[in-house]
Amino acid sequence: MAPLAAALQTAIEKIEVCRTCGNVDSQNPCTVCTDPKRDDTAIVVIADVADLWALERAHAINARYHVLGGTLSPLDGVGPQDLSIDALISRVHAEPIKEVILALNATVDGQTTAHYITDLLQEANVRVTRLAHGVPVGGELDYLDEGTLSAAMRQRTLF
Ligand SMILES: [Zn+2]
Repeated sequence: MAPLAAALQTAIEKIEVCRTCGNVDSQNPCTVCTDPKRDDTAIVVIADVADLWALERAHAINARYHVLGGTLSPLDGVGPQDLSIDALISRVHAEPIKEVILALNATVDGQTTAHYITDLLQEANVRVTRLAHGVPVGGELDYLDEGTLSAAMRQRTLF
């Protein structure tokens, strides 16, 4: 057990929260923020670091990220001041961002947060997009809930 405990202690000492994006890494700014091969003009907004890692595992996009640290939730007492929203708006104005991609949960709190951020970005000259809602890969239509099925129909794309 001793080597495991020592390894965990080393990890605890080395891991920091990135001052730019909120990712967790052993260097600060993190490896994503300092990677020169990434698209500087798109920023993906996620609620938690776990969402960032999920997108990275999927190789979904080669852009920068911004971790909010949660979503707005009036019932749980989470307001804009509790999240990294001001820092996001500052980044959008300071960096050469052309698109802000809201990759937030398809829940009431996630979508409330998406609307709130979209309102704050009205004056910024950027395209604000969000993830599509619809049929999961490998999914069967007759198993889908009505909300997902009607969202998929509304957001149908050219084949
Ligand atoms: Zn970072």
